[in-house]
Amino acid sequence: MMGMITVVGGGFAGVEAAWAIAKQGVPVRLYEMRPVRETGAHKTDHLAELVCSNSFKSKLETSPAGQLKAEMLALGSIILPTAERHAVPGGEALCVDRDAFAADVTAQIEGHPLIEVIREEFTPEMGNRLLEGGQTLVVSTGPLTSKPLGEWLAGLTGRKHLYFYDAVSPTVDASTIDRSIVFAQSRYDKGGDDYLNCPFEKDNYLAFVHELVHAERALPHGVAAEDETLEKIKFFAGCTPIEAIAEGGPRSLAFGNFKPVGLTDPRTGRRPYAALQLRPENKDKTLYSLVACQNRLKWGEQKRIFQMVPGLENAEFVRFGVIHRNTYIDSPQVLDSNLEMREHPGLFIAGQITGVEGYVESAAMGIYAGLAAVRKLRQLHQVAPPRACAYGSLVSHLQDATPREFAPMNINWGLFPDPEETIRDKQVKRTWKLNQARTAFEAWKCDLFLGIESS
Ligand SMILES: Cc1cc2nc3c(=O)[nH]c(=O)nc-3n(C[C@H](O)[C@H](O)[C@H](O)COP(=O)(O)OP(=O)(O)OC[C@H]3O[C@@H](n4cnc5c(N)ncnc54)[C@H](O)[C@@H]3O)c2cc1C
Repeated sequence: MMGMITVVGGGFAGVEAAWAIAKQGVPVRLYEMRPVRETGAHKTDHLAELVCSNSFKSKLETSPAGQLKAEMLALGSIILPTAERHAVPGGEALCVDRDAFAADVTAQIEGHPLIEVIREEFTPEMGNRLLEGGQTLVVSTGPLTSKPLGEWLAGLTGRKHLYFYDAVSPTVDASTIDRSIVFAQSRYDKGGDDYLNCPFEKDNYLAFVHELVHAERALPHGVAAEDETLEKIKFFAGCTPIEAIAEGGPRSLAFGNFKPVGLTDPRTGRRPYAALQLRPENKDKTLYSLVACQNRLKWGEQKRIFQMVPGLENAEFVRFGVIHRNTYIDSPQVLDSNLEMREHPGLFIAGQITGVEGYVESAAMGIYAGLAAVRKLRQLHQVAPPRACAYGSLVSHLQDATPREFAPMNINWGLFPDPEETIRDKQVKRTWKLNQARTAFEAWKCDLFLGIESS
C-alpha cells in the first residue's frame, strides 16, 4: 500500500504540494473550502487564485525571485509553467491573466488521476482524526485560514505561537544602511550594540513627522483592515500605526518610539534630538527592521518617507510595514527545517502560514512540504535545503529564533548568506551569492529526490 497524503487549502502552496506529491505516484486528497465557505478576499472558486496583484515578481534570473523561480521549476512547479502560458506584458515581472491562469491550474489539478479535490471546509475534528490515525497531512490554508482551523492550529502550537494579525515594521537590507551616520549602541550602553540608531536633528525630525502625518494611506487590505478590528488590534497588541502616533503632536515620536534617552551620537558627542532604532532581523545581521514603525501607508510613501531618516537615504527596503489580518505560525518555535511540526509528527505546514510572504514564496514552500511529506511516507530521512540557495534562505528565515517580531518575509538578498570575506561592491557580492545558491541547490535537488522518484 503506497499510502495517501491529505493537503488542506487549494491556494498556491496547496496546489504545489498536491502536484509534487502526485508526481511521486502518491494519491492526494486536496480540501478546498471555496465556494462552500468564502475567505472574504477570494472572488472565484478557482484554485490558486491571485487575491490582489497579478504579478509573480521579477523574471530576471539574477534577482532573488528569479533564483527562487529557477529552483521551483527544477523541483517540478505547476504554477510557474502555467503562469508562462498565461503571461501578459509586465516589464521585468512575470504577470498573468489571473482568470485564465487560475482556471488552467484548477483544470490540471482536477484532471490529475491521483488528486481528488474535495470542496469542503476542513475542520479540527478531521485534523485530529488524521493525526490520531498516523496519517500525513499538509496544512496550507493561508493568511485567511478559516476560524475553526486557525484555532485548532493555535491549540496545536501552544496558542501564543499563532498570529492572526501582522503589525510589521519596514525592514531594510543591512548593506544599504549608511554606517557613517548610523551608530551601534543600546540605550545607556545596556544590552550590547545589537541596536543601530539613526540620529535626527530637530529640523530633519520635524520634516519627517510632517511627511508622515500627510502621507497617503493604503486602502484597507482586503477584509483585514476593518476599523473595528484594527481598534482591537491596537488595543491588544499595542501596535498603533506610527502615523497615528505622529498625529498626536509634532514631538510625540521624540517622546515615544524615537526617544533618544541614553544615546550619544559619536559624531557630535551629544544626545540626538530623536533616534529611530534598527534591530537585527536575523542572526547574520544582514537585515534590520525599523523598530516600532508599523504603519498603514502606501509602499511608495513608506520608501519616500523612511528614506528621509538619517542614514537610510539609500536604504533598500525588503519588506514594508503593514497592519492586517494574516494567520501564521511562529515557525522558529514550532517547525522543523522540513516544515513538519516538532510536536506533531506527520503534520506539515506550507505556504504563507509558515511565515513566508507572497504567491511565489508560498508556492515554493508548497513544493518542499509536499516532497518532505512523501519522504516521510516512504520513511526516508529528511534533507533540509542548504542555507546558500533560495530555498535554504527562506527556510533559514523560518528557523531563525533571533528575538524579534517574527513575521512573513519575501525572498530578498538579505536572506542569502554573506561571504566570510567582506565584498564592498554590491553587484559583485550579489553575483557571489547567486553562484553559491546555484551550486548548493543542484546538490540539494539530487538529495531531495533520492529514493522518492516514482518510476
Ligand atoms: C488581501 C490580500 C492581498 C494580498 N495581495 C498579495 C499580492 O498582491 N501579491 C502577493 O504575492 N501576495 C499577496 N497576498 C498574500 C497572498 O495571499 C499569499 O502570498 C498567497 O496567496 C499565499 O498562498 P497560500 O497557499 O499560503 O494561501 P492562499 O493562496 O490564501 O490559499 C489558502 C487556501 O486555503 C483555503 N482554506 C482556508 N481555510 C480552509 C479550511 N479550513 N478548509 C479548506 N480550505 C481552507 C482558502 O480558501 C484558500 O483557497 C495577499 C493576501 C491578502 C489576504
